[in-house]
This record gives sequence, structure tokens and C-alpha cells, in this order.
Amino acid sequence: MSQTKYIFVTGGVTSSLGKGIISASLGILLQARGYTVTIQKFDPYINIDPGTLNPYEHGECYVTDDGAETDLDLGHYERFLNIATSQDNNVTTGRIYHNVITKERKGEYLGKTVQVIPHITDEIKRNISLLGEKGDYDFVITEIGGCVGDIESLPFIEAVRQAKWDLGPHNSLVIHLTLIPYLSAAKELKTKPTQHSVKQLLEAGIQPDILVCRSEKRLPMDIRKKLALFCNVNINSVIEALDAETIYDVPILMRKEKLTERVLAKLKMPAKHEPDLEQWKSFLGRLKNPTDEVTIGLVGKYVELPDAYKSIAESFIHAGAQNECKVNLEWIHSEDISASNVESTLKNLNGILIAPGFGERGIEGKIIAVQYARENKVPFFGICLGMQCAVVEFARNVMGLKEAASTEMDSNTPHPVIDLMEEQKKIVDKGGTMRLGAYACNLKKGSKVHHIYNSGLIHERHRHRFEFNNKYKEAFEKEGMTMAGTNPDTGLVEIVELKGHPWYIGTQYHPELKSTVLSPHPLFVSFVQAAVKNKKKS
Ligand code: GLN
Repeated sequence: MSQTKYIFVTGGVTSSLGKGIISASLGILLQARGYTVTIQKFDPYINIDPGTLNPYEHGECYVTDDGAETDLDLGHYERFLNIATSQDNNVTTGRIYHNVITKERKGEYLGKTVQVIPHITDEIKRNISLLGEKGDYDFVITEIGGCVGDIESLPFIEAVRQAKWDLGPHNSLVIHLTLIPYLSAAKELKTKPTQHSVKQLLEAGIQPDILVCRSEKRLPMDIRKKLALFCNVNINSVIEALDAETIYDVPILMRKEKLTERVLAKLKMPAKHEPDLEQWKSFLGRLKNPTDEVTIGLVGKYVELPDAYKSIAESFIHAGAQNECKVNLEWIHSEDISASNVESTLKNLNGILIAPGFGERGIEGKIIAVQYARENKVPFFGICLGMQCAVVEFARNVMGLKEAASTEMDSNTPHPVIDLMEEQKKIVDKGGTMRLGAYACNLKKGSKVHHIYNSGLIHERHRHRFEFNNKYKEAFEKEGMTMAGTNPDTGLVEIVELKGHPWYIGTQYHPELKSTVLSPHPLFVSFVQAAVKNKKKS
């Protein structure tokens, strides 16, 4: 195996500059030159993983095939690079400390004082090299969450300094993502915040090799020269990152700025060939030249923060482009839906998606929305909690089980159509204990999903505790709700469909976690087609 090269991406001046998108863009550009790449994210918070965080705190929790609950940036990595990531791709301060403390209790440091340096930094370095050692990667890109100068990211920055030293020259480099603010009163772009953030990196012993500068305006030559001179980088290593129309334009912008050429030259790697971006560009072409337009309602309770449903929103972008159709997402708060306003709230939608979620708040609004979609034959897509709501609605309004509920919302319901499995009942700890990660699912011959997937066996990712209660299976099927997908090992219901409805699918799993630019998810593609059809009909 050739020596893996390590690229570290740090951020300065402010958070939310898009380190994840820059990392993913660099990843796809390297891939397009024929290199193998993976991306890793270090998060400096104490939670072992983001699974225990409220979506308002940190946006969506992204789940990998191996069942890791991770940062939403991993979703960008997968969507851009079309590769699967794993637990090794996301490590928090909490996990680092947990590993060190577990080793300490086992006596692995017997006789020693366990300290931030070297024990915590060694554990961080072990996690940096893990991916390079396990996989046959030419490049491992490691994104350090947070901002340079934050107290909590100090051990990570120190570990990067040491890793650079350990790896030796030309085997690693640091890209610093920074902000060049524009002061409209002075009509000037300002470099000082960047100079200060580079100084902070230098204080930690790290000289950045490349500056990627987020800016609203183009960086003129004098500003580039100033940044190069005061931050000790080559002038051609000052890369402009203008605000882009969509995140999917960023690889093209970075290509124009020759980011990959700089990286390859510094790491003494051959440029191989021009990046092959044909498929990417054809995706962008379809995305930007739609011939149709639909409006889909996304009914959820975290709608104030669109990052809470990041993967769903991105899946619609992929599926829309595939259909050359612009998908307008209307974010609808489930707490605002009632029996009296449901018609006026939902009547202009071409499709309705009920989002995943936890807890009782907003649940009745979701159930009312399902009923509207079912009765009015509006294309309906229920994901995880959305599917569970579909089951409850059907039980109550078609099967006449008026008090049917999920035991998550009503533990005393006489009709627990959604319930905990026996093994879940024994679980006390909340972190990492849901049904997580990829599970197999058999699709029923003749079902809509069998046709859409064009396969009898699929693997999809899960993140939930509650399940369809199989005691009610026959009763549901008798009334027309079919169990179109089941787990081959446990018999758990993974998909429900409705007979006589143009498009009504509920999935216990999260299809949005597997949609990528190059491989849009078939269910989203089909749902958008159904919405187009529905629009034409009305
Ligand atoms: N709250 C539900 C459960 O735990 C659904 C979870 C989800 O939508 N991800 O089963």
C-alpha cells in the first residue's frame, strides 16, 4: 500500500464557514483524479456521540451502516464522495476520553499519571491513523470541528501538530478555512481576522499550508498578496471560496481555484489527469435546468431548524435533479396542524412527507396530516416516526381502534400498534441503544417498493426504538395496509403500503441516509415522480 497522505482542515474566525463542504469538495476532486479518499470529523464536545443531542442543538444525527450516530457532516461526505463512512469517521472529545479512561481502569497505564499530553493526544493520533491503516486510502482528510482558539479544541490542534511531525515532510498538510469579511461602509475586504486566526495556529505550533478564504466578494490580487505575506503562505495557496448558489457548486469553484493542484504539489503526489467531473456536471445541469416544479410539504416539529432534516432536504435535491424537477419544500410545523385547518394548510401540496422524530409533541398534527394524504390520495411518504404515525392513523380511522397509539406517546393504550420490542424494554441507558445501522429487508413480490427498488432484498439504515406490533399484522392486511418489507431475521415490519392509493409508503428505516449525488435514492425519485403526476392531475 502506498503511504497514506493526511490532510487536516481547521477553521478560524467564526464557525459555520462550511469546513464539511470544503473537505467534501476536496475529497471529490481528488477522487475525480483517480485517488481513493475518506473524510473524518473530530468534534470537540463531551457527548460520546451526537445521538443524545436534541436536533435544535446540533442538527440531524446521521447514522452510518455500522450503526454509529454521527455528525451531519458525515452525510455531506457520503453524498459527495458516494462512499460509506463508519464510526471511525467521527470521533468526539467524549469518545477520546472514554477510551482513555476505559484503558486506565483496565490498568493499561499502570503506575503512570494519565494526562492530556501525552495520553489524550496519543488517543487522538491513534484515531487519525486508524482510517489510513484500516483502508487502502491515498488520502485521509481530517476535519477539526470548532474554531482555532477554542479551549475545547486545543488537544486536537496539539495532536495535529504532533501528527505532522510524526508523519514527516510531504505526508501531511493543513488547510485553514477562514473568513474575509467585507465592510460595506469602508467598501473593503478585511484580512485582519484571518491574520489573527493564523497567529493562533502558529502559537500552537502549526503553520497552515493553504488558506481557503470564505468571502462574499472576489479577492483582488492585493488582498491575496497581503494574506500570503502576513500568513506565511505562497500566493497561489490563498484560495478564494465565494458564497455559492448551492453546496454542489463548491467542487467546481474549488476546481477553478486549483485547490487540488496545490494539495497534490505540496504532498508531492502526481496530478494524474484532469479531474473527471462529467457526472457531477451533468447532475448540476439537471439541477439548474428543471422542466417541472412540485411542492412537497415536510411535516415535522423541528422545522425552525432545517439542518434537523438535512439528509431529507438533500435527498429531494438529488431526486429532483434526477427528474429534472425543482422540488420546493414547504416546512410545516406539525403543532400547527389541526382538524379545522388541515385542508387549507395542505391543499396546495403535490406530496406530503411526515418526518422522523421523538416524543409526544406535535404527534396529533402529524396523524391528521396522514389522514388527509390517505383520504385525498395525495402522494404520502412517512419516514420512521412518519411511518408509525401512518400505522396509528390507519388503526384509528380505518380499523376503528379509536384509542390506538404508539406506546412512546401513550404507555397505557389498549391498542399498542407501535410498541417496544422485548429486548428494548430491558434497556436503561439512552446513548447508542436504539436499533441502529443497516439491516436487511425482504420486499414482497408485486409490492410498489419491489418495483421501485427493482430488487427483492435491500439494506437500509435504522435509528429508532419502537416497532410495528406484529400482533396486529393480519388485521392491518385485511383492511388494506400491506407489510411490503420485513426483516428476514426478526420478521419486524420495515415498510407499509396502502392498497388503492397512488403512492403511500411508510418506512421504518431512513432512506434519506443513503441518497447521494451519483446515486439518488429510488424512493425519493419515485415519490417526486408521483408528486409530478399528482400535480398534472389536479
Ligand atoms: N421515536 C420513534 C422511535 O424511537 C421514531 C424514531 C425516528 O423517527 N427516528 O421508534
